[in-house]
Amino acid sequence: MKVIIVGGSAGGASCAARLRRLDEKAEIIMVERGPYVSYANCGLPYHVGDVIPKEASLFVADANTFRSQFAVDVRTGCEATKISPDKKTVELRNVATGEVTTESYDKLVLSPGAPSIRPPLPGIDLPGIFEVRTVPDTRAIREWIEKGSLFLSGMHKYSGFQTVRPRTRAVVIGGGFIGLETAENLVHRGFDLTLVEMGDQILAPLDQEMARIVEGYVERHGMRLALSDGVAGFQQAANNTLAVLTQSGKSYPADIVILALGVRPDTTLAKSAGLEVSQRGGIRVDEHMRTTNPDIFAVGDAVEVKDFVTGEWSLIALAGPANRQGRIAADVIAGRDSGFRGTQGTSIIGLFGAAAAWTGASEKTLNRIGDKDYEKIYLYPNSHAGYYPGAKPIAMKILFRKSNGRLLGAQALGEDNVDKRISALAMALQLGATIYDLEESELCYAPQFGSAKDPVNFAGMVAADVLRGDMPISHWDGAEKAFLLDVREPMELAVESAPGAVNIPLGQLRARLGELPRDREILVICRSGQRAYSATRMLLQKGFKARNLAGGMLSRAHAETFWTS
Ligand SMILES: Cc1cc2nc3c(=O)[nH]c(=O)nc-3n(C[C@H](O)[C@H](O)[C@H](O)COP(=O)(O)OP(=O)(O)OC[C@H]3O[C@@H](n4cnc5c(N)ncnc54)[C@H](O)[C@@H]3O)c2cc1C
Repeated sequence: MKVIIVGGSAGGASCAARLRRLDEKAEIIMVERGPYVSYANCGLPYHVGDVIPKEASLFVADANTFRSQFAVDVRTGCEATKISPDKKTVELRNVATGEVTTESYDKLVLSPGAPSIRPPLPGIDLPGIFEVRTVPDTRAIREWIEKGSLFLSGMHKYSGFQTVRPRTRAVVIGGGFIGLETAENLVHRGFDLTLVEMGDQILAPLDQEMARIVEGYVERHGMRLALSDGVAGFQQAANNTLAVLTQSGKSYPADIVILALGVRPDTTLAKSAGLEVSQRGGIRVDEHMRTTNPDIFAVGDAVEVKDFVTGEWSLIALAGPANRQGRIAADVIAGRDSGFRGTQGTSIIGLFGAAAAWTGASEKTLNRIGDKDYEKIYLYPNSHAGYYPGAKPIAMKILFRKSNGRLLGAQALGEDNVDKRISALAMALQLGATIYDLEESELCYAPQFGSAKDPVNFAGMVAADVLRGDMPISHWDGAEKAFLLDVREPMELAVESAPGAVNIPLGQLRARLGELPRDREILVICRSGQRAYSATRMLLQKGFKARNLAGGMLSRAHAETFWTS
């Protein structure tokens, strides 16, 4: 059997390696347009920031490894330009010489990825404007930065005591992963940084109140955010600098500009071969990664897959799914019955020592599809036992089915061990777990790692309290019309108070029940919802109508009060 794989990175390379492990006899050709195979795109922003100083570290495996260990005929600098599905052939063009050859195949795997979106804006090709997608891209950025430093070294002013170097200015366009990671790295390198984002929040998959926390955090760490403003064009300015012009009429000066406007599946080959490409722009595949032609498979960023929670078709540009899909395609080609379960969009981004991570559906997605059968909770547990040094709060939002408790999605932000909580929740979600399962999960615990009630258990317990009716909850929208009872200590109110709330600290509540109305619903607040839970339980048992205001003061204004470092 002869298999041609187009694309030598995440999806293509994992397909090639897996196929060889399953089939020693297959003839495998892997063609890659660029100069490298199996390189770590995910590491590129950190190479820009010099956190990964050596370019060579980005090469996970080179062409020779694939040739020697896997007997894969790797052809770099080789572009697949045309598929003839009837003849089962692919035309291959040598990028350096332009020479075109034709190869036949029994099975073809497409893993061409998703190139960066590059709108035809005025001035977009000016020198100093880059994107971060390939190793040559990052090499060019590093060279530009070095060149700029040399240039600036001639401009250092002698102040009498020290040499003052003017700060170089960077503008990053796009507040998704790649934009934010690159922006963080440029801040590390000392750039004065502005990030321009057309949407009204960064990190679009997060719900807005969670994104607000991240926005506050990155701003405190030196990023200037310009939200709700799209880029309109670029101009060359004085001294070889640039001006980034936005739709609102603003102009941001820049010594370097990074474009990170998102990606679009590469469907050129697929379309020319008559394969079905959806309206969203991804190659349509079944769960076995087969396209509409049974001998052609497609994997990775270029394909459209089913969302595990909503069942909708979705485009997802993540390394994990690309690797798994490459492996599944290899399995199926080798005669196994493997299938892709769908994507949950499980993601994480590290920013200035903190992390934002999520899995499954967001509240805005559920609202968009008109799914009303969900409830949400907010909680702020410590990353590990509070008495052991170094514990940090984690802000968590959990979404679950009201009717049966099934976990639908989770978002978490914090400076310590966010990843393991979202990874545990992602696994639970994929296995169809309910919040009752989270209550019962047995997770690692010693004080430096977690708590006897891990944040994952805690999320389950809070959510289960809600569904069992032990703790009716309410949210901040409309809370101003209710009777608000604040059970925090008076000194906490000095920091932040909820207007109109009656303050009775939890310790005094039993003795002061006479001050509360019996004919109105009472919304109970504290800092994070924990003391309000105890108060709600007490009030319910004493015959009051009470609800815990989910997440307390932290969910009301956590962008201001959380992560104060
Ligand atoms: C800067 C950056 C950071 C990222 N960080 C993360 C992260 O932290 N976590 C995460 O999960 N994901 C991350 N990703 C996304 C992740 O890298 C992709 O989801 C993954 O690489 C997709 O794999 P793929 O095989 O579909 O496509 P790619 O890895 O893009 O590979 C496609 C390859 O196909 C080649 N190709 C295309 N067309 C042809 C053709 N006609 N002939 C020959 N070759 C062709 C291309 O040159 C390319 O090398 C990041 C991506 C970037 C760019």
